[in-house]
Amino acid sequence: MMADIRADVVVVGLGAAGSATACHLARRGIPIVGIDQFAPPHGRGSTHSESRIIRKAYAEGKQYVPLLARAYWLWESLEKETGQQLITRCGCLVIGRADSARVAGTIESARAAGIETAVMTPREVHASFPAYRLKSHEIGVFEHDAGAIDPERAVAAHLAQARALGARLLMHERMLSWHAGPHSVTVRGETCRIEADRMVLAAGAWVGDALGAMRPPVRIERVVNAWFPTSGSSFSPTRCPTFIWDDDGTNLYGFPDFGHGLKAGLHHEGTLVEHPSQLDRKIGAADIGVLYEKLLGLFPEGLAVSRDASTCMYTNTPDLHYLIDHLPGTGRRVVVQSACSGHGFKASAAVGEVVADLVLGREPRINVDPFRWRWS
Ligand SMILES: Cc1cc2nc3c(=O)[nH]c(=O)nc-3n(C[C@H](O)[C@H](O)[C@H](O)COP(=O)(O)OP(=O)(O)OC[C@H]3O[C@@H](n4cnc5c(N)ncnc54)[C@H](O)[C@@H]3O)c2cc1C
Repeated sequence: MMADIRADVVVVGLGAAGSATACHLARRGIPIVGIDQFAPPHGRGSTHSESRIIRKAYAEGKQYVPLLARAYWLWESLEKETGQQLITRCGCLVIGRADSARVAGTIESARAAGIETAVMTPREVHASFPAYRLKSHEIGVFEHDAGAIDPERAVAAHLAQARALGARLLMHERMLSWHAGPHSVTVRGETCRIEADRMVLAAGAWVGDALGAMRPPVRIERVVNAWFPTSGSSFSPTRCPTFIWDDDGTNLYGFPDFGHGLKAGLHHEGTLVEHPSQLDRKIGAADIGVLYEKLLGLFPEGLAVSRDASTCMYTNTPDLHYLIDHLPGTGRRVVVQSACSGHGFKASAAVGEVVADLVLGREPRINVDPFRWRWS
C-alpha cells in the first residue's frame, strides 16, 4: 500500500550532499523527509572508500574559499556533537612545476586568503616527509591544516544528527517521478507519495534521471582508487601528508596508509559515460598498473602492488565547477544540489547549510552565485 507523507521539505538523495542538507534543515526544526534508493553510506555512488582530501588553499578557484572555511568549522562542530573524529590533519602536499596551474593556483589562493602554507624544495620535502621523492624541477606546497576526511563516517554522522533532530529518513526508497505545482511538490517513490512545500534534488550521478528533460549537461566519470601495501613507517599519517601531484598535466592524488595501504587515484583521467548504469565497475590489471607505475615516480621505495581497489563516480559539469541553484521553471520550489565535478566532499557540510537557506527562500550566508545554473 502507498503511504502518504507530508513534509515542509523533501530531500532526494542522502549521500554527501543530501545528508548535509537534511541535517541543516533538521537543525532549524523544519519537518523534512529524506529518501534514498540505497542506504547511505554505500559504495555505489560517489561517496565511499575511506578518505577524501580536505584543504582550503584552492587552485580550483577563489569562489570556493569561503565555503571551505565554513566547512571546516561545520565539520569540527559535527565532530564535537557526535564525539567522532572525521578529519585527520596530516596536511596536504601539492606537487608540480612552480608555474603549473595547480601549484601556482594553490600558492595564489593561500596568499589571497591568508592560509598557512610552506613552499618546499625537493630536498626539504624529502627531509620532512621521507617517502616522497620529487623531481628536481618540482616544488611542494604544504598546507598544514589540510588532511583527509572520512566520507562514510561523515555521511553517517550527518544522517544520525538529522534523525536525532526529527528528520524522517527513508532508505531503499527510490524516487520514480516528481511534479512541482504552484503550491507544492509531489514526489512519487516506490512505496510512498510525498507532498512537500519544497524539494532538494541531491541525486549525484543520477541527477540526469531526476531531471529528465531539464538534465544539466553532466558526464559521469569512472574513477578507480587502489590501496598499495607499504613498508616502513614513512607512509604513516604522521609522516606522510595527503598529496596532489601535477605531473606535467596528469594529476595523481593520494593518502597516507591509514591501515589498508597508501590509497591513490587519477583525477579527471577516467572514461566518461552518460549514465551510472553504463559505468564499468570491474577493475582490471591495467587500472592498477597505471596507478602503480605513476606512484613509483613519486615514491620509488616502500610500495607493493595493490591488493584492493574500488570504482567510484565523478559527476562533471562542462566547466568542472559545482552546480547549486533553484531549478529554472519551478517557482523556486526546487533546488538542485548536484553536481560536484569530483571535488565536492570537503565543502559538502557548508553547501548543505547554503542549500537549506536557498530552499527555504532565505539569503544564504555564503554567495553561491558562481555555481548557478549556467546552461540554456
Ligand atoms: C574516487 C573519488 C575521489 C574523490 N576525492 C575527493 C576528494 O579528495 N575531496 C573532495 O572534496 N571530493 C572528492 N570526491 C568528490 C566527492 O566525493 C563527491 O563530490 C561527493 O561525494 C558527491 O556527493 P553526492 O551527494 O553528490 O553523491 P552521492 O554521495 O553519490 O549521493 C547521491 C545519492 O542520491 C541517491 N539517489 C540518486 N537518485 C535517486 C532517486 N531517484 N531516488 C532516491 N535516491 C536517489 C543515490 O542513491 C545516492 O545515495 C571524490 C569522488 C570520487 C568518486
